[in-house]
Amino acid sequence: MSAALSNRTGGQERDALLRLVADSVPALIAYYEPENLRCVFANKAYAEANGWTVDTIVGKTVREAIGEQAWQVIEPEVARVLKSEKVEYVRTMILPSGEQRSIEVHLIPHLDEQKKMLGAFVLITDITRYQRAERTIRESEERWRKFATATNEGIFFHKDGILTDVNAALLEITGYAREEIIGKNVLEFVPTAWHKIMIDYMRRGSEDPYEAEVLHKKGHRIAVEVVAKTVYVDDHAYRMGALRDITARKHAEARIQYLAHHDMLTGLPNRAYLTERLSTILALARRHGTLAAIMFIDLDNFKTVNDTLGHHVGDALLKHVAARIKEVLREADMVSRLGGDEFLVILADFAAPEDAGKVSDKLLQSISAPIMLEGQKICAEASIGISVFPRDGDNADDLIRRADAAMYSAKEHGRGQSRFYTAGLSSEGAETMAREARLREALRHGEFLLHYQPQLSVADSRLVGIEALVRWRHPERGLIDPSEFIEFAEARGLIDEIGEYVLREACRQNKAWQQEGFAALPISVNVSAAQFQRGDLVAGVKRVLDETGLESRYLELELTESLLMDNETVGTALSGLRALGVKITVDDFGTGYSSLSYLKRYPIDKLKIDRSFIDDLNADADNRAIAVAIINLARTLKLTALAEGVERQEQLEFLREQGCDEFQGYLAGNPMPAEEFAAFARR
Ligand code: C2E
Ligand code: MG
Ligand code: MG
Repeated sequence: MSAALSNRTGGQERDALLRLVADSVPALIAYYEPENLRCVFANKAYAEANGWTVDTIVGKTVREAIGEQAWQVIEPEVARVLKSEKVEYVRTMILPSGEQRSIEVHLIPHLDEQKKMLGAFVLITDITRYQRAERTIRESEERWRKFATATNEGIFFHKDGILTDVNAALLEITGYAREEIIGKNVLEFVPTAWHKIMIDYMRRGSEDPYEAEVLHKKGHRIAVEVVAKTVYVDDHAYRMGALRDITARKHAEARIQYLAHHDMLTGLPNRAYLTERLSTILALARRHGTLAAIMFIDLDNFKTVNDTLGHHVGDALLKHVAARIKEVLREADMVSRLGGDEFLVILADFAAPEDAGKVSDKLLQSISAPIMLEGQKICAEASIGISVFPRDGDNADDLIRRADAAMYSAKEHGRGQSRFYTAGLSSEGAETMAREARLREALRHGEFLLHYQPQLSVADSRLVGIEALVRWRHPERGLIDPSEFIEFAEARGLIDEIGEYVLREACRQNKAWQQEGFAALPISVNVSAAQFQRGDLVAGVKRVLDETGLESRYLELELTESLLMDNETVGTALSGLRALGVKITVDDFGTGYSSLSYLKRYPIDKLKIDRSFIDDLNADADNRAIAVAIINLARTLKLTALAEGVERQEQLEFLREQGCDEFQGYLAGNPMPAEEFAAFARR
């Protein structure tokens, strides 16, 4: 090309080349002479944008070339260029087609050596596209700002750790004013213990959420969940982060953890916690060659107190007894409440079995001292059974069982006594055997029946489900609640048969209601851990469904949390049930074991918030926090949340505000016999 160029030297050819260049650039170009402002040259784009051709525009004045309207706008600019000034401005240009463009205009004076004006160049670029892009950015910034002020999440930007922008929520969470934060290093607002983790997170450019702490202006720490992303602004890498105050959740988690390990009434460790600790204590005793003793304490007259003076007196009595037991024990010992009126004591590290006997005597004495309750003098009596490690067993289960047996033997020998386990003692006391025989008889005689309790939708109080609850119609004692026999049946291996009856009867009844034309509803059946552990639960459920003709989607099984952490059999059983199409509910949620990981691991459909949290929802902030935490947990995991034990309207209102899905309780209806439930459902 350069060879071709150098050959062409004629003026005409130079003009042609100039024109070619001028017409090829993406700009509008023109040249005007200074006296009359007539156009000497224009490229095609300039001419056509003004409605001319490159030939017709030549000789026109600026005013003629661009039209009167535009002239009015640019006249002052033209005056400036004529004073040899370089002029630059932006204006709107209307094309002959009527289309509007934004243009950036450069007017450049053309001067000779003596600074005399020879003419003026006009160079115009179309910046419509850039303006649009700019507007989009502005709008998106606007949007993000609105968004950032609307959210409760604290949002921050930093570049290499230096904070450049934060939203109002972040100031709210940390207690700082904007100017106290901007320009500072992020780490100044984070407790030292977290620095390494945070630096590492930034360095890796990680974008996963994590939990950490930040410092409030007043100095206290705030638990937060943080997630950050790398964003690019003008080619610089910034980190944009969002943090959420999770103090309430942490608090609730700690509370759940506590509840999981403690008996709520007495504040003593519960059975789960005790079993955990007992293994450790035994391991230590084994290593040091010391003794340990287990004492099973059962109050002799608790039921009478409870029945005659009421639950609140019974509860108060249990608290007193708990306190008295604690008083007798040393620091290293441990007492837990197993439930009902049963306590278990572990004596750690003592020299001779007789020492345990002395402690139990002191316990009996202390417990039986009269207690004043509501103006009544009450004397609690207890029976104590003792087993000693390693003499009577080398593991927690055996030791507890033998202490239990010893306790029954103490009761048989007149109450208010303590007894050591002896090899001659059958591990099944006579009373136990009699009770067991009576339950078996009840099964044979068909003394069990079901009551049904409605489950309603919180939003509109529609009937959405039914819980089947077993009852024992005792020929002499009348209707007996499950709390009096389920645990015993579990311990004596009778629960399978009772469970089988409940499952079959619930499915049969539900199918019958459907055939009578009731709206089809799921029925939920409580299942004991023991039923799960047998390994043939899935087959059993399938058989019952087949035999009763109930579709699997109308059956739900309720199990407790403690079961879920148990073992592999449970995982297999749950998958099997899911495959059958049966739904799984976690009953009494929040009171059992604390690990929540099983919620993700197992196919679970519903969480039943334990009655204890609903009980004094309005009075107790902790309970409220836990109930809310569970509802949110359910929502996050896409599970249904059901509140148990709703008795009052204000509890229901609270649940409605919190977005709980379903509820059950006396407010909606007590557990009732089948005929009564049918009448209820019809209404
Ligand atoms: P659960 O499954 O948590 O059942 C709820 C219990 O709360 C029922 O007691 C019910 O009568 C009671 N309840 C319902 N609404 C309210 C209320 O508004 N206020 C109060 N204070 N209580 C309310 P129930 O029927 O005595 O059952 C006690 C427990 O026995 C059940 O707790 C369940 O764990 C167990 N159970 C019941 N039936 C069976 C069964 O067929 N098999 C097994 N394995 N366990 C069962
Ligand atoms: Mg239940
Ligand atoms: Mg429950």
